[in-house]
Amino acid sequence: MAARSLQARGLAVRLLESGRSVGGRLATRRIGEGGLADHGAQFFTVRGETLRQQVEEWLALDLVYVWGTGWSDGSVKRTAGDGHPRYATRGGMNRLAKHLAQGLDIKLNRLVLSARKSVSGWTLEDSEGDLHAGAGLILTPPMPETLALLTRSGVYLHDDDMVDLRRIRFGPCLCGIHEIDGDADLPAPGAVQNFLSDIYWVADNEAKGISKSTIVTSHANAKFSRQNWDAPEEDIVRELESAVSPYLSPGAKISHTQLKKWRYSVPLTTHPQECVLARDLPPLVFAGDAFGGRGRVEGAFMSGIAAGDAMADELTK
Ligand SMILES: Cc1cc2nc3c(=O)[nH]c(=O)nc-3n(C[C@H](O)[C@H](O)[C@H](O)COP(=O)(O)OP(=O)(O)OC[C@H]3O[C@@H](n4cnc5c(N)ncnc54)[C@H](O)[C@@H]3O)c2cc1C
Repeated sequence: MAARSLQARGLAVRLLESGRSVGGRLATRRIGEGGLADHGAQFFTVRGETLRQQVEEWLALDLVYVWGTGWSDGSVKRTAGDGHPRYATRGGMNRLAKHLAQGLDIKLNRLVLSARKSVSGWTLEDSEGDLHAGAGLILTPPMPETLALLTRSGVYLHDDDMVDLRRIRFGPCLCGIHEIDGDADLPAPGAVQNFLSDIYWVADNEAKGISKSTIVTSHANAKFSRQNWDAPEEDIVRELESAVSPYLSPGAKISHTQLKKWRYSVPLTTHPQECVLARDLPPLVFAGDAFGGRGRVEGAFMSGIAAGDAMADELTK
């Protein structure tokens, strides 16, 4: 969204992405023939007008759809709906990022190793050894990664910026991607959410409508994930599987579980501004889901737009 708003203001933008594809935590994994699992963001909600208008377009394109309006907490086979739509993406959440990436200059598999000040702005070095120069820089990784990048690059932030940005904290998430031999039996529309449980989220990607085979995603909360982060993989997998087993049809069993560890899953503390323009440095803007106080997909979406606008204002003043 940051790149798109800069482009809309007539500026040339290049994105450097460390992953094999765009999307970050809008993550979908391919498993076997036709199997898909969303293992990062599971759905998104809409509170503000800007995303609401955008979602109308995405609905018209059949890119997103309403998955449900609430989840069972697992205690009864009934779903408590609060009326708020939960949107999912056809073909998995990652497709939303791929859609947004169209028409942008994106270099994949490029981990940014350093960001150095230059006379005309910034020069980045990526993991392929290539240098990228630009008048301005927007950084959207989770804040602990952004701060680590600046520290190893020898860039010192103004004390006030440092104090604020260091307050941003993320919770980890241990995630299971479970292939099921047989059927899952989760309450409609295919998920259980119970914040009192260590493993608070169990969802069936087939019932969700994105997978041709039965693949269940499980998520552990930040406390459990932190406490068990370094536990042997088989112990973590056993815990995740024990939360899934009650939601399998008679005779069904888990045939395989992949473990995904999200070190930075959702922000636990956020910055109230939608983005932050660094003081006393060449144009540098910090953005992402930890800005604007909303968190989550909508927070990232709004922060991106704000960051693009702030950078465009800075470069064209
Ligand atoms: C398990 C889990 C469940 C979630 N559930 C939900 C949910 O149900 N609903 C919801 O709204 N939100 C959910 N979220 C949160 C949501 O996914 C995020 O809020 C949102 O996707 C964040 O987007 P972002 O662009 O700020 O950050 P990211 O998606 O993290 O993007 C940052 C990008 O920067 C790249 N990067 C990092 N460092 C470098 C570097 N040095 N060089 C190059 N590239 C780099 C990363 O590869 C990544 O692609 C969930 C997240 C997780 C992990």
